Amino acid sequence: MLKNKMNMLRSFISIITVLFLISCNSNSKIPQVAKVDIVFQEDSLEFTDSQKVFISMVISKSEEEVRKLLPNLTDSINVIVEQVDWDLDSVGGVTGRTETNHPPLVLVQISNNYREGIADSLYSGLKATIYHEFHHISRGWAIQDNKFISGIPNAMVNEGLAVAFTEIYTGTINEVNSYPMDADSWVKEILALPLDANYAQWVMGEHPDGRNYIGYRTGNFLVRKAINKSGKNILELSELMPEEIIKLAGY
Ligand SMILES: [Zn+2]
Repeated sequence: MLKNKMNMLRSFISIITVLFLISCNSNSKIPQVAKVDIVFQEDSLEFTDSQKVFISMVISKSEEEVRKLLPNLTDSINVIVEQVDWDLDSVGGVTGRTETNHPPLVLVQISNNYREGIADSLYSGLKATIYHEFHHISRGWAIQDNKFISGIPNAMVNEGLAVAFTEIYTGTINEVNSYPMDADSWVKEILALPLDANYAQWVMGEHPDGRNYIGYRTGNFLVRKAINKSGKNILELSELMPEEIIKLAGY
């Protein structure tokens, strides 16, 4: 009888041990809350404390939302935020760039020169900028250690994916990313460009013929066309290589 009780007790203890180990194991897999590290660069212009709190909140919240949509988004993304007096009216008062994949580094510039000042920039542009740049990080599209070979077609597709993703999930639409009526011929023009075509002219700057943001606008068009023709959504397309997306769009 006593032996039975001892056996039962021993089984009970081992069950508890197993449950404890399982719970420890699953605890270790629970994602940490802070997946993003925000630094304020204030060499010339300073933020107020409340601005910093608000900026941090918008970035963290956006990061959580993007991570749910793009679960392969890398951990520990560094975001350096800087205040500038540039004219960023066409992009909602905020701009950014994905500098490196390793370490994951995104630079964000917030204009104090937008409509009523910095608060307006924060509301309009910060969330959209984080969605755009974090989409780049999830694909490895970075300035210094880019995972894609150079060439305007790759830029067109990667920028188009980030633009469409941001427009679809934030509802923020900037006129500079709108595609023109003859976007179809712009796509063909880009696909025929030499590998060393001028990046500034063809992707985000102004072309000598007067067109601007050609890569962004054409990319947005191309990605929407690929969505319509293939029935795949923007998240499914975001897992594909540029050549596959170009093909799905019918080129
Ligand atoms: Zn971009």
